[in-house]
Amino acid sequence: MSTTGTLWRTAVILLLAISGAVAAFATMAPPPEAQLLPERAALVEALPIDTDDALVPSPASYIREEQFQRGDTLAAFLSRLGIAEPHVGRLIKLNALRSLRPGMNVSAVVSAEGMPLSLSFFNGRDALLEITPDGRVAERRAAFETRPAMKSSVIRSSLFAAADAAEIPDSVAMQLADVFSGDIDFHRDLRKDDRFTVVYEVHSLLGRPVRAGRVLAAEFVNQGRTFRAVHFGSSYYTPEGKNLRKAFLRSPLEFSRVSSGFGRRLHPLFRTWRAHEGIDYAAPTGTRVRAVGDAVVEFAGLKGGYGKVVILRHQGRYTTVYAHLSRIAVQRGARVAQNDTIGFVGQSGWATGPHLHYEFRIAGQARNPFSIAMPAAQPLPAQQLPAFLADAEPLVARLELLADLTTLAQGD
Ligand SMILES: [Zn+2]
Repeated sequence: MSTTGTLWRTAVILLLAISGAVAAFATMAPPPEAQLLPERAALVEALPIDTDDALVPSPASYIREEQFQRGDTLAAFLSRLGIAEPHVGRLIKLNALRSLRPGMNVSAVVSAEGMPLSLSFFNGRDALLEITPDGRVAERRAAFETRPAMKSSVIRSSLFAAADAAEIPDSVAMQLADVFSGDIDFHRDLRKDDRFTVVYEVHSLLGRPVRAGRVLAAEFVNQGRTFRAVHFGSSYYTPEGKNLRKAFLRSPLEFSRVSSGFGRRLHPLFRTWRAHEGIDYAAPTGTRVRAVGDAVVEFAGLKGGYGKVVILRHQGRYTTVYAHLSRIAVQRGARVAQNDTIGFVGQSGWATGPHLHYEFRIAGQARNPFSIAMPAAQPLPAQQLPAFLADAEPLVARLELLADLTTLAQGD
């Protein structure tokens, strides 16, 4: 295709994407707690300033904002905000300022003479702390503005590298792995050129993004197979309303930055399933091991070469085995739910390095779980389907537009 043609097509799709976004998200009502914060000036006026100092009229005051840096002393930081020496000495004794952490931004209203009229910053718990010159502290719950963000990326080396490249937060990458954990083993199944698109909430304060929220919709193309998810109620469904939760998770290990790169190292015990009727996941000692499905603990203890091992009995004829643990977190006879912690990775028994040996058995026979179609969890109740489809349609349209753009960008 000619460059002009590609450009033209990109332009048309961009236009569609922009108008599509407006249509798609006009229907997304903000959560009730999301309100705009009052203007900064209003906040300052509302401060109860009643010390003698503060009553002195200050014809010229200004607002200054600085970030508390690693290695900053409180005194140096307050000076940088333009606060004069005698006031600095008084302020550094305040307990409220001890909750300052590197990376936090502080707004100060300071008089022309260097007298602080107010200091305010967001603490780590989503509250706005306002400090008056006399040292009184008012804490307000912060009001967030929530908007959807949309990102796409292509896997070159790992999911986290792809997320980093598109400036997608870790919490979103991990949700993505969780949403598709019934279909994709993110430790073993990812391939170069797999790609994904994700729509997620971003919470902002005063127009500044503070943190990411839930994933609202996502598409993952893994080894040529396309999986889609739409958030509804407390679960994720396919655009047709099928539940994405499966009776079994694809991996007994959670996907994380730590565990994601570990398996790539050469490991003397890393063998194929065929060689010894199980799957070995190389992972650091202490990594959480989770039940792949609801079960009763059939065995928890020492067993020969398995070392510390947990065996779970699931519904039907299924059992799963988790061996070489460093620590067991369940007792025989206990009921566990899917994703519950049952133990931690180690190298007990016949193992020369930390790894999890995992077996999936049907009627007592070890089977390769990757060759078995897993039973799905309950679909959406029929009476909820119309509401779901109405919610899902604009999100799915958005996913398709972004996926097209990514494909175009790759083609160039
Ligand atoms: Zn093994």
